[in-house]
Amino acid sequence: MTLSEMREILKARDLQLTKSLGQNFLHDGNQLRRIVAAAELAPTDKVLEIGPGLGPLTESLLTSGAQVLAIEKDARLVAFLRERLTHLPNFTLLQGDALQFLQQETVPPELAGAPDMATPAGQADWSAWKLVANLPYSVASPILVELALHPRRPERMVTTLQLEVAQRVAARPDTEHYGVLTLLLQLHYTSHGYFKIPSGCFFPAPDVDSACLTLVRRPQPLLDEPETKRFVALIKRAFSQRRKMMLKLLKNDWPADRLEAAFAKLGISPQERAEKVGLEVFTEFCKLLAE
Ligand code: SAM
Repeated sequence: MTLSEMREILKARDLQLTKSLGQNFLHDGNQLRRIVAAAELAPTDKVLEIGPGLGPLTESLLTSGAQVLAIEKDARLVAFLRERLTHLPNFTLLQGDALQFLQQETVPPELAGAPDMATPAGQADWSAWKLVANLPYSVASPILVELALHPRRPERMVTTLQLEVAQRVAARPDTEHYGVLTLLLQLHYTSHGYFKIPSGCFFPAPDVDSACLTLVRRPQPLLDEPETKRFVALIKRAFSQRRKMMLKLLKNDWPADRLEAAFAKLGISPQERAEKVGLEVFTEFCKLLAE
Protein backbone atom coordinates (compact mmCIF):
# COMPACT_ATOMS: atom_id res chain seq x y z
CA MET A 1 0.00 0.00 0.00
CA THR A 2 1.59 3.26 -1.14
CA LEU A 3 1.37 6.59 0.67
CA SER A 4 -0.89 8.04 -2.04
CA GLU A 5 -3.22 5.03 -1.81
CA MET A 6 -3.35 5.46 1.96
CA ARG A 7 -4.21 9.15 1.64
CA GLU A 8 -6.92 8.36 -0.92
CA ILE A 9 -8.55 5.77 1.33
CA LEU A 10 -8.53 8.14 4.31
CA LYS A 11 -9.97 10.95 2.20
CA ALA A 12 -12.63 8.84 0.49
CA ARG A 13 -13.89 7.52 3.83
CA ASP A 14 -13.42 10.86 5.59
CA LEU A 15 -11.26 9.17 8.24
CA GLN A 16 -9.57 11.50 10.72
CA LEU A 17 -6.73 9.63 12.43
CA THR A 18 -6.76 9.29 16.21
CA LYS A 19 -3.46 10.14 17.90
CA SER A 20 -4.35 8.42 21.18
CA LEU A 21 -4.72 5.11 19.27
CA GLY A 22 -1.21 5.51 17.85
CA GLN A 23 -2.51 5.69 14.29
CA ASN A 24 0.73 6.13 12.39
CA PHE A 25 0.53 3.88 9.36
CA LEU A 26 3.54 2.26 7.74
CA HIS A 27 3.64 2.81 3.98
CA ASP A 28 7.26 2.01 3.15
CA GLY A 29 7.49 -1.24 1.16
CA ASN A 30 11.13 -1.91 2.12
CA GLN A 31 10.42 -1.68 5.84
CA LEU A 32 7.33 -3.87 5.51
CA ARG A 33 9.44 -6.50 3.72
CA ARG A 34 12.08 -6.35 6.46
CA ILE A 35 9.44 -6.87 9.16
CA VAL A 36 7.94 -9.86 7.35
CA ALA A 37 11.43 -11.31 6.73
CA ALA A 38 12.20 -11.05 10.46
CA ALA A 39 9.08 -13.11 11.16
CA GLU A 40 10.52 -16.02 9.07
CA LEU A 41 7.03 -17.07 8.00
CA ALA A 42 6.03 -20.41 6.56
CA PRO A 43 2.56 -21.06 5.04
CA THR A 44 1.82 -23.30 8.04
CA ASP A 45 2.39 -20.45 10.52
CA LYS A 46 -0.25 -18.72 12.61
CA VAL A 47 0.19 -14.99 13.07
CA LEU A 48 -1.41 -12.64 15.56
CA GLU A 49 -1.39 -9.04 14.35
CA ILE A 50 -2.42 -6.34 16.79
CA GLY A 51 -3.57 -3.06 15.28
CA PRO A 52 -3.78 -3.80 11.53
CA GLY A 53 -4.90 -0.22 10.76
CA LEU A 54 -5.47 0.06 7.01
CA GLY A 55 -3.76 -3.30 6.57
CA PRO A 56 -0.40 -2.69 4.84
CA LEU A 57 1.40 -5.22 7.06
CA THR A 58 -1.64 -7.52 7.10
CA GLU A 59 -1.55 -7.79 3.31
CA SER A 60 2.14 -8.74 3.34
CA LEU A 61 1.52 -11.31 6.08
CA LEU A 62 -1.40 -12.84 4.18
CA THR A 63 0.71 -13.13 1.02
CA SER A 64 3.04 -15.51 2.87
CA GLY A 65 0.12 -17.97 3.13
CA ALA A 66 0.15 -17.91 6.96
CA GLN A 67 -3.11 -17.82 8.94
CA VAL A 68 -3.56 -14.28 10.25
CA LEU A 69 -5.72 -13.24 13.19
CA ALA A 70 -5.87 -9.43 13.48
CA ILE A 71 -7.35 -7.43 16.37
CA GLU A 72 -8.20 -3.79 15.73
CA LYS A 73 -9.82 -1.42 18.19
CA ASP A 74 -11.06 1.25 15.79
CA ALA A 75 -14.46 0.24 14.34
CA ARG A 76 -13.95 2.46 11.26
CA LEU A 77 -10.78 0.57 10.33
CA VAL A 78 -12.44 -2.78 11.05
CA ALA A 79 -15.23 -1.85 8.61
CA PHE A 80 -12.65 -0.96 5.94
CA LEU A 81 -10.66 -4.18 6.46
CA ARG A 82 -13.81 -6.30 6.34
CA GLU A 83 -14.59 -4.93 2.88
CA ARG A 84 -11.04 -5.28 1.65
CA LEU A 85 -9.69 -8.51 3.15
CA THR A 86 -12.22 -10.77 4.82
CA HIS A 87 -12.89 -12.74 1.60
CA LEU A 88 -9.41 -14.27 2.10
CA PRO A 89 -9.66 -17.74 3.68
CA ASN A 90 -6.52 -17.28 5.81
CA PHE A 91 -7.74 -14.05 7.47
CA THR A 92 -9.73 -13.57 10.69
CA LEU A 93 -10.52 -10.11 12.02
CA LEU A 94 -11.73 -9.17 15.48
CA GLN A 95 -12.80 -5.80 16.74
CA GLY A 96 -11.73 -4.93 20.27
CA ASP A 97 -9.03 -3.87 22.66
CA ALA A 98 -6.14 -6.30 22.17
CA LEU A 99 -4.79 -5.88 25.69
CA GLN A 100 -8.16 -6.75 27.23
CA PHE A 101 -8.45 -9.67 24.81
CA LEU A 102 -5.05 -11.04 25.89
CA GLN A 103 -5.84 -10.62 29.57
CA GLN A 104 -8.85 -12.93 29.34
CA GLU A 105 -8.08 -16.43 30.56
CA THR A 106 -10.35 -18.15 28.09
CA VAL A 107 -10.75 -17.71 24.38
CA PRO A 108 -13.81 -15.67 23.32
CA PRO A 109 -16.71 -17.77 21.92
CA GLU A 110 -16.23 -16.52 18.35
CA LEU A 111 -12.72 -18.03 18.30
CA ALA A 112 -13.37 -21.17 20.30
CA GLY A 113 -13.25 -23.35 17.17
CA ALA A 114 -10.07 -21.81 15.75
CA PRO A 115 -7.21 -24.31 15.38
CA ASP A 116 -4.35 -24.21 17.94
CA MET A 117 -5.95 -21.29 19.68
CA ALA A 118 -7.09 -22.88 22.92
CA THR A 119 -6.28 -25.76 25.25
CA PRO A 120 -8.94 -28.48 25.66
CA ALA A 121 -10.04 -26.54 28.78
CA GLY A 122 -10.63 -23.43 26.64
CA GLN A 123 -7.64 -21.40 27.88
CA ALA A 124 -5.84 -19.24 25.33
CA ASP A 125 -2.88 -21.01 23.76
CA TRP A 126 -0.41 -18.87 21.79
CA SER A 127 2.41 -21.41 21.84
CA ALA A 128 2.13 -22.21 18.11
CA TRP A 129 1.72 -18.53 17.14
CA LYS A 130 3.92 -15.61 16.12
CA LEU A 131 3.10 -12.03 17.01
CA VAL A 132 3.90 -9.71 14.09
CA ALA A 133 2.67 -6.17 14.62
CA ASN A 134 3.29 -2.49 14.30
CA LEU A 135 2.01 -1.93 17.82
CA PRO A 136 0.11 1.12 19.10
CA TYR A 137 2.94 2.67 21.13
CA SER A 138 0.85 3.60 24.18
CA VAL A 139 0.04 -0.05 24.94
CA ALA A 140 3.07 -1.76 23.37
CA SER A 141 4.92 -2.57 26.61
CA PRO A 142 1.91 -4.06 28.46
CA ILE A 143 0.99 -6.12 25.40
CA LEU A 144 4.55 -7.50 25.11
CA VAL A 145 4.73 -8.28 28.84
CA GLU A 146 1.31 -9.95 28.80
CA LEU A 147 2.34 -12.27 25.97
CA ALA A 148 5.89 -12.88 27.19
CA LEU A 149 4.69 -13.99 30.63
CA HIS A 150 1.72 -15.95 29.29
CA PRO A 151 1.94 -19.63 30.31
CA ARG A 152 1.53 -20.55 26.62
CA ARG A 153 3.53 -17.73 25.05
CA PRO A 154 4.15 -17.16 21.30
CA GLU A 155 7.23 -18.67 19.66
CA ARG A 156 8.38 -15.36 18.13
CA MET A 157 7.45 -11.69 18.50
CA VAL A 158 8.39 -9.22 15.76
CA THR A 159 7.11 -5.80 16.70
CA THR A 160 7.55 -2.20 15.70
CA LEU A 161 7.95 -0.09 18.81
CA GLN A 162 9.14 3.25 20.00
CA LEU A 163 12.95 3.02 19.65
CA GLU A 164 13.45 3.61 23.36
CA VAL A 165 11.20 0.65 24.24
CA ALA A 166 13.14 -1.61 21.84
CA GLN A 167 16.38 -0.43 23.51
CA ARG A 168 14.98 -1.22 26.95
CA VAL A 169 13.85 -4.70 25.97
CA ALA A 170 17.18 -5.58 24.31
CA ALA A 171 19.41 -3.91 26.98
CA ARG A 172 22.42 -5.43 28.76
CA PRO A 173 23.01 -5.06 32.53
CA ASP A 174 24.68 -1.91 33.82
CA THR A 175 23.50 0.20 30.89
CA GLU A 176 21.12 3.15 30.75
CA HIS A 177 18.15 1.20 29.34
CA TYR A 178 18.42 -1.93 31.51
CA GLY A 179 15.53 -2.48 33.94
CA VAL A 180 12.26 -4.22 34.72
CA LEU A 181 11.06 -4.33 31.10
CA THR A 182 14.36 -5.91 29.97
CA LEU A 183 14.09 -8.71 32.51
CA LEU A 184 10.36 -9.37 32.06
CA LEU A 185 10.93 -9.88 28.34
CA GLN A 186 14.32 -11.59 28.38
CA LEU A 187 13.26 -14.17 30.97
CA HIS A 188 11.53 -16.28 28.33
CA TYR A 189 12.87 -14.69 25.10
CA THR A 190 16.19 -13.89 23.52
CA SER A 191 16.52 -10.64 21.65
CA HIS A 192 17.63 -11.02 18.03
CA GLY A 193 18.18 -7.27 17.77
CA TYR A 194 16.26 -4.43 16.16
CA PHE A 195 16.48 -2.16 13.13
CA LYS A 196 15.47 1.49 13.14
CA ILE A 197 12.58 2.69 10.98
CA PRO A 198 12.76 6.37 9.96
CA SER A 199 9.72 8.49 10.93
CA GLY A 200 9.14 9.38 7.26
CA CYS A 201 8.12 5.76 6.58
CA PHE A 202 4.89 6.36 8.55
CA PHE A 203 1.85 8.50 7.81
CA PRO A 204 1.59 10.75 9.67
CA ALA A 205 5.23 10.75 10.85
CA PRO A 206 5.36 10.05 14.62
CA ASP A 207 7.18 12.46 16.97
CA VAL A 208 9.33 9.61 18.34
CA ASP A 209 11.88 7.30 16.74
CA SER A 210 10.80 3.75 15.88
CA ALA A 211 12.43 0.34 15.59
CA CYS A 212 11.41 -3.21 14.76
CA LEU A 213 12.52 -5.72 17.41
CA THR A 214 12.68 -9.52 17.10
CA LEU A 215 12.27 -11.74 20.16
CA VAL A 216 12.55 -15.52 19.97
CA ARG A 217 11.19 -17.79 22.72
CA ARG A 218 13.87 -19.72 24.62
CA PRO A 219 13.78 -23.44 23.77
CA GLN A 220 13.73 -24.24 27.51
CA PRO A 221 12.23 -21.75 30.00
CA LEU A 222 14.74 -20.60 32.65
CA LEU A 223 11.99 -20.74 35.31
CA ASP A 224 8.71 -22.61 35.66
CA GLU A 225 5.36 -20.85 36.23
CA PRO A 226 5.44 -20.45 40.06
CA GLU A 227 9.09 -19.33 39.85
CA THR A 228 8.18 -16.85 37.12
CA LYS A 229 5.63 -15.24 39.46
CA ARG A 230 8.31 -14.94 42.17
CA PHE A 231 10.77 -13.52 39.61
CA VAL A 232 8.30 -10.79 38.62
CA ALA A 233 7.79 -9.78 42.27
CA LEU A 234 11.54 -9.91 42.91
CA ILE A 235 12.65 -7.67 40.07
CA LYS A 236 9.80 -5.19 40.54
CA ARG A 237 10.90 -4.74 44.15
CA ALA A 238 14.63 -4.73 43.29
CA PHE A 239 14.16 -1.91 40.74
CA SER A 240 11.51 -0.01 42.72
CA GLN A 241 14.10 2.63 43.63
CA ARG A 242 16.92 2.48 41.11
CA ARG A 243 19.54 4.24 43.19
CA LYS A 244 18.97 2.17 46.34
CA MET A 245 20.79 -1.01 47.34
CA MET A 246 18.86 -4.07 46.23
CA LEU A 247 19.27 -5.91 49.54
CA LYS A 248 17.59 -3.10 51.48
CA LEU A 249 14.67 -2.99 49.07
CA LEU A 250 14.14 -6.76 49.08
CA LYS A 251 13.96 -6.79 52.87
CA ASN A 252 10.46 -5.33 52.45
CA ASP A 253 9.27 -8.70 51.14
CA TRP A 254 11.68 -11.44 52.25
CA PRO A 255 13.36 -12.36 55.58
CA ALA A 256 16.82 -10.80 55.95
CA ASP A 257 18.59 -14.09 56.78
CA ARG A 258 17.33 -15.80 53.61
CA LEU A 259 18.30 -12.83 51.48
CA GLU A 260 21.75 -12.55 53.00
CA ALA A 261 22.38 -16.27 52.52
CA ALA A 262 21.32 -16.04 48.87
CA PHE A 263 23.50 -12.95 48.29
CA ALA A 264 26.49 -14.76 49.82
CA LYS A 265 25.91 -17.94 47.80
CA LEU A 266 25.68 -15.99 44.53
CA GLY A 267 28.60 -13.71 45.40
CA ILE A 268 26.49 -10.53 45.18
CA SER A 269 27.79 -7.65 47.26
CA PRO A 270 25.26 -6.45 49.90
CA GLN A 271 25.79 -2.95 48.47
CA GLU A 272 24.86 -3.96 44.90
CA ARG A 273 22.15 -2.11 42.98
CA ALA A 274 19.74 -4.08 40.81
CA GLU A 275 20.86 -2.42 37.57
CA LYS A 276 24.24 -4.23 37.82
CA VAL A 277 22.71 -7.70 38.26
CA GLY A 278 22.19 -9.88 35.20
CA LEU A 279 19.26 -12.13 34.25
CA GLU A 280 21.01 -15.40 35.14
CA VAL A 281 21.82 -14.17 38.65
CA PHE A 282 18.21 -13.05 39.17
CA THR A 283 16.91 -16.45 38.06
CA GLU A 284 19.32 -18.31 40.38
CA PHE A 285 18.33 -15.93 43.16
CA CYS A 286 14.69 -16.77 42.60
CA LYS A 287 15.38 -20.50 42.93
CA LEU A 288 17.37 -19.96 46.14
CA LEU A 289 14.54 -17.95 47.67
CA ALA A 290 12.17 -20.85 47.10
CA GLU A 291 14.37 -23.34 48.97
N1 SAM B 1 -0.47 -2.04 11.30
C1 SAM B 1 -0.80 -0.74 10.74
C2 SAM B 1 0.38 -0.21 9.98
O1 SAM B 1 1.47 -0.78 10.11
O2 SAM B 1 0.23 0.76 9.25
C3 SAM B 1 -1.25 0.25 11.82
C4 SAM B 1 -0.32 0.43 12.98
S1 SAM B 1 -0.74 1.77 14.03
C5 SAM B 1 0.85 2.11 14.72
C6 SAM B 1 -1.53 1.03 15.43
C7 SAM B 1 -2.93 0.46 15.18
O3 SAM B 1 -3.38 -0.11 16.41
C8 SAM B 1 -3.98 1.47 14.79
O4 SAM B 1 -4.71 0.97 13.69
C9 SAM B 1 -4.89 1.60 16.02
O5 SAM B 1 -6.24 1.90 15.72
C10 SAM B 1 -4.76 0.22 16.63
N2 SAM B 1 -4.96 0.15 18.09
C11 SAM B 1 -4.69 1.09 19.02
N3 SAM B 1 -4.93 0.63 20.26
C12 SAM B 1 -5.35 -0.65 20.12
C13 SAM B 1 -5.75 -1.68 21.02
N4 SAM B 1 -5.74 -1.47 22.35
N5 SAM B 1 -6.14 -2.87 20.52
C14 SAM B 1 -6.13 -3.10 19.18
N6 SAM B 1 -5.77 -2.17 18.27
C15 SAM B 1 -5.37 -0.97 18.72
